[in-house]
Amino acid sequence: MHELSIAQSILESVQREQDRQGWGAISSISLQIGALAGIHNDSLVFGFEALRSEFGMDACTLEIESLPITLACATCGTTAPTEELAFICSVCGSSDVSVTSGYELDIVSVDVAEQPVQS
Ligand SMILES: [Zn+2]
Repeated sequence: MHELSIAQSILESVQREQDRQGWGAISSISLQIGALAGIHNDSLVFGFEALRSEFGMDACTLEIESLPITLACATCGTTAPTEELAFICSVCGSSDVSVTSGYELDIVSVDVAEQPVQS
């Protein structure tokens, strides 16, 4: 289950930032995951919840926003999201398309529950 190692790397990078910035407890982490990233969201949440206490983030939740596949058509110039796993332009039906998004796996925001202690 590679989602477990992804969950671990997310927690590690957030913890690194937490240490660096002197953040307090983290209440949630928001991700954007593209439809082509090959990640099963439920498995990722499961892995995250299994590992978060090791990082002192017991109360932290994972928010996942799924991003659609976006195709750019070389025939008619349309760039549009597609709901299907069919690499065909939704406007002209051409298969001469390239994927412009859908492979994302990004941490978009981290919510910190408490303000850091002022020195
Ligand atoms: Zn087209």
